[in-house]
Amino acid sequence: MLSSTASCLCGSVKITASEINPKFSVCHCDSCRTWGGAPFFAVQCGTAVEIEGGENIKVYESSSWASRGFCSECGTHLFYKLKKSGEYNMPVGLFQNLKELEMDMQYFSDQRPDYYCFLNETKEMTKAEILEYFADQV
Ligand SMILES: [Zn+2]
Ligand SMILES: [Zn+2]
Repeated sequence: MLSSTASCLCGSVKITASEINPKFSVCHCDSCRTWGGAPFFAVQCGTAVEIEGGENIKVYESSSWASRGFCSECGTHLFYKLKKSGEYNMPVGLFQNLKELEMDMQYFSDQRPDYYCFLNETKEMTKAEILEYFADQV
């Protein structure tokens, strides 16, 4: 597990995550690509997350099981948070100094559009596989 700090573009929000999994995932689902204009490169940060400037975070309830947070001042995407477990997934690009990151999983591979692909060899899950695997967690 890695520890690192992050900040949004304008500096209103500062984040310290102390249990970052260096094996990150990419989500190709329609929601993530609509939210960010591209697939979501997400690192699992667990629940050991400290947030400074939380009053500047706008939270959008994107589904019944998760919410998405962004800086209300500059729009920087900050997290995808699972409601039940309280676990954070954060954009890998927020953390400037993480080393030994490895793309490990691609979610919603069946929603990946034809206009891009990655050379990284990773595990993949389709929507159907995800719904089955996480059925008890959502
Ligand atoms: Zn900001
Ligand atoms: Zn997604």
